[in-house]
Amino acid sequence: MSTPDKHDPATLGDDTWAVHGGNAIDASGALRTPLVLANSYALPEDASKVSWSDPDTLIYARNGNVNQHALETKLAALEGGEQALVFASGVAALHAVFFTHLRSGDHVVVSAVTYEAVWRLFAELLPKRYGIEATFVDTADLEAVRAAVRPSTRLVHVETIANPTTAVTDIGAVADIAHAAGALLSVDGTFTPPPLYRALADGADLVVHSLTKFINGHGDAMGGAVIGSRELVSTIRNDASVDVGGVLAPFNAWLIMRGSVTLPLRLRQHLATAQRIAAVLDADPRTAFVAYPGLPEHPQHELAARQFGGRGFGAVLAFALDGDAAVQNRFVNALRVITSAVSLGHDESLIVHVAPGTRGGDEHYPEPFQRYGHLRLSVGLEDPDDLIADLRAALDTALPA
Ligand SMILES: *Cc1c(COP(=O)(O)O)cnc(C)c1O
Repeated sequence: MSTPDKHDPATLGDDTWAVHGGNAIDASGALRTPLVLANSYALPEDASKVSWSDPDTLIYARNGNVNQHALETKLAALEGGEQALVFASGVAALHAVFFTHLRSGDHVVVSAVTYEAVWRLFAELLPKRYGIEATFVDTADLEAVRAAVRPSTRLVHVETIANPTTAVTDIGAVADIAHAAGALLSVDGTFTPPPLYRALADGADLVVHSLTKFINGHGDAMGGAVIGSRELVSTIRNDASVDVGGVLAPFNAWLIMRGSVTLPLRLRQHLATAQRIAAVLDADPRTAFVAYPGLPEHPQHELAARQFGGRGFGAVLAFALDGDAAVQNRFVNALRVITSAVSLGHDESLIVHVAPGTRGGDEHYPEPFQRYGHLRLSVGLEDPDDLIADLRAALDTALPA
């Protein structure tokens, strides 16, 4: 093992890189990369030598700026990729992957349960406007993935743990299927940020994160990132960042850089508390179902244990009380610590009640989701005992014994 050097991620553990990664000391001597809000950078005296498309030359903030670059350096090494590219939101990052790597007539295989915006992009917008065809399959079923691939398949897109059903896809196996068909595998890793999981190491070509979630972790900035090989990411930079323009604002890059300092530390707490809460809800006869990959009865529990290296199973779970929508609402409204709001991966615990039939593609959801709807709980950093007491009290209110 080489001597640790805070500028060389190959010599460092995850916690050390999360603290130091991407930080560079400029002429001021400031220990943290300063927030640079300028849109434009001074050109050299001889501007005839400027390479306008070189992403490392600072010219104009849409092409790249100090804070975006610092965050990209940090995220690339954290995820184990050659390059990262940051966007204004996770959806902008996902769209950039699809926009860059798909053309009219191409076919895509997509997880049947996927983030709402991805569902709509592949169910409606891209097929109707651009002639890109998508097949939705249960990507936990490898035979179904194999059967869905066609000669025109250019991309397979999955989530490591699906939002909201928590279905887990075998990334290595799906990468093999995609590559044998000459297609790329893009993976939305939002539910399993590093160091919990690194999909590139299992053969994914591109990993996308909503930085809005665990990586920023404080619920105060939106952002997205794509990480992968220099070749694939720089094509996205040229085609879908500089010339489409959904770039991350410097201030958000700076906030996410700060939030991500504690990512490995926060994750340990998120994961441990989520596992405890899943067990408590699962043992309570008043819950109709609990979907969490850390529970032994989860259909991909063993795959998840192996794939995520025993580090944990994420911090988002879906469940429902044994009752109708009014019961679920009564439960949510009785919570006094956990907040009813969308988003996830924040420091505070968030819960959202999703009724059956209100999301695109929910005919693909497992039976209990279709019957009861679901409550998606993102487990935060509060005292685990407070969260458990809050959930128990709300259960008592919603379904008195
Ligand atoms: C939130 C989320 C996104 C979208 O990210 P935004 O930053 O909200 O645009 C994409 N994928 C998953 C799995 C998410 O949870």
